[in-house]
Amino acid sequence: MKPFTCPICGGKLNIRIGEAHAECDSCGRLHEIDAADVEQFRKIYADAERLMRQNTVAGYEDAIRQLQTIAFIGEARDKIKECEQRFNELRANQLQRQEANRLSDKRNTRLGVVLLILTVLLCAAALAGIVYLIVRWVQGTLSKGAVITILAVAAAAVIISVLGRLFSGRGSDS
Ligand SMILES: [Zn+2]
Repeated sequence: MKPFTCPICGGKLNIRIGEAHAECDSCGRLHEIDAADVEQFRKIYADAERLMRQNTVAGYEDAIRQLQTIAFIGEARDKIKECEQRFNELRANQLQRQEANRLSDKRNTRLGVVLLILTVLLCAAALAGIVYLIVRWVQGTLSKGAVITILAVAAAAVIISVLGRLFSGRGSDS
């Protein structure tokens, strides 16, 4: 974009969004701005405001890019600063959330390990129970209470192992 300078003294023109005239920074004369330029500035500025309303990292990035094309206008520079501030805030929140997710993943992994140990212990108990059942059956001294206890331990082993699989499945998804 061409620079907007005073045709009399070469000073910088204080262009304002939506205004057809700009005052020279050095000599104070008012100069008319081309209507097409006024409209273009207004459009870029309005686009940037619309992007900012998205309130997303990408939205602010796009808004900054737009505003940089009219950064010779004070209002655009102010908006860029505002975008950068909001952008940094959002980024900081994003990083914080990622860190929180990482910590909860770690917790899930720890829970998975506990469940795995529990599964191994219960499977061993179930196996021992089955061996015990076979021995008692062979000896012909099988008691009802022993059968129920051993079947309950075997069922618990199956349930815990299913839970463990669910947890490790969720861990690898994220
Ligand atoms: Zn001037």
